[in-house]
Amino acid sequence: MSETINFFEQVNQHFDRAAGFTGHPPGLLEQIRICNSVYHFTFPLKRDDGSIVTLDAWRAEHSHHKLPVKGGIRYAENVSENEVMALAALMTYKCAVVDVPFGGAKGGIRINKADYSVGELERVTRRYTFELYKKNFIGPGIDVPAPDYGTGPREMAWILDTYRSLAEDQLDAIACVTAKPVAQGGVRGRTEATGLGVYYGVREACRINEDMKKLSLSPGLEGKRVVVQGLGNVGYHAAKFIQEGGGIIIGLSEFEGAIHNSKGINVDEVMIHRKETGSILDFPHAKNLKKSADALELDCDILVPAALENQITMENAKRIKAKIIAEAANGPVTADASELLAKNGVQILPDLYLNAGGVTVSYFEWLKNLSHVRFGRMSRRFEEDINSKLLKSVEDLTGKKFAKNVFDQIAHGADEKELVYSGLEETMITAYRDIRGIQAEHHDQIDLRTAAFIDALNKVAVSYFELGIFP
Ligand code: NAD
Repeated sequence: MSETINFFEQVNQHFDRAAGFTGHPPGLLEQIRICNSVYHFTFPLKRDDGSIVTLDAWRAEHSHHKLPVKGGIRYAENVSENEVMALAALMTYKCAVVDVPFGGAKGGIRINKADYSVGELERVTRRYTFELYKKNFIGPGIDVPAPDYGTGPREMAWILDTYRSLAEDQLDAIACVTAKPVAQGGVRGRTEATGLGVYYGVREACRINEDMKKLSLSPGLEGKRVVVQGLGNVGYHAAKFIQEGGGIIIGLSEFEGAIHNSKGINVDEVMIHRKETGSILDFPHAKNLKKSADALELDCDILVPAALENQITMENAKRIKAKIIAEAANGPVTADASELLAKNGVQILPDLYLNAGGVTVSYFEWLKNLSHVRFGRMSRRFEEDINSKLLKSVEDLTGKKFAKNVFDQIAHGADEKELVYSGLEETMITAYRDIRGIQAEHHDQIDLRTAAFIDALNKVAVSYFELGIFP
């Protein structure tokens, strides 16, 4: 599918629409729009059976207006240069929207993971890292990868280990990649960060009374009927947090098929069922749908595409019944479909805002790695001590005692996970208000995606204006 739709052009269509609302000179807009560097390379892999295959790989650095650049690495069969460039561009705009001080990048290897053993995947990941290192495409102050579709903490640990063995005496080498396992310098809360950010974003959107009224929905997430496509890292966590936050998950879809129950489906039970049977289908408390893509067209309030790009196109957009589309994946709705849905009154929470939780917490991890200390380590006991003293003074002054659970709750000093969650919540709420504010400045005549692009574009433009152009 992504072969027929030019993803980078899709992103640039959104960019161009937003650029029309800014007064920046055309040359500067072009400098922001283009992809600064793209590195395409091939390398051999000796397979377990002794045969040799060659693999295509990419790293694209979209914008160097801030360093390091940052973005995930994707392992998928349909990875292409165009896709990597599009995703790198989205990273630039995403970082700007949530005020993460990085430029955008993305990497990918054209590979079907299922065809390779763990040992082979390790060799692929290490060789990929080595190739990036040789060309100066990785480093704590240069370019910092993270996971994307098909990769996770395991691959990030291999990248770290390879990088560290090449840059042995570099004090900050541990900050060369993020979303590492916690024992390898990762930060607590990173695994679930993108899905958690999706939840914070959806919840914030549902809080705005006037927007919900326009959609004929009641304010708040409570009771909203939600469908999620893709139960990987992002989709699973988004579904889980939305369910905990009061949303009712009525449909779930994976590549093998989709399930539906209008009364609600327990996400964790589905995950257990999938582990046991290898499929979400035939889950006892739901009915199977014919095709995986049918889930997108279910009658629901919120649709969360969390798998891959180009899932909602001109072909199926007219059959979408959701009132809100929460873009947890990158580019799940094509530019034309986006326009059509907006005309039909559907609210789209755009990817460059909604799935920015991952890069936000990656930024926290990078900061932790540079400071070489766990968040909360220096302050937690001190806070607890001060809070306890304050509460005791109140008790002495009033002659009354707090209930023990209330005392402990207020006295409590924050640990790393709580600080990360709080920092992410603050980021997602503030960014939503910023882009909703831009939409309001345009008398609600632009959609949220255009508002987010205007926000990003203005921030990147300010950087270029202030830095000047070298030489
Ligand atoms: P993942 O590999 O963990 O999960 C993706 C899931 O989608 C898999 O379970 C896969 O089987 C399923 N899937 C694939 N095609 C499908 C289809 N047609 N219908 C239903 N399910 C399908 O990947 P992820 O990290 O969760 O990434 C998902 C999306 O979120 C991607 O677009 C990625 O770029 C974006 N994203 C990821 C992160 C992150 O931190 N991982 C951050 C921002 C954006």
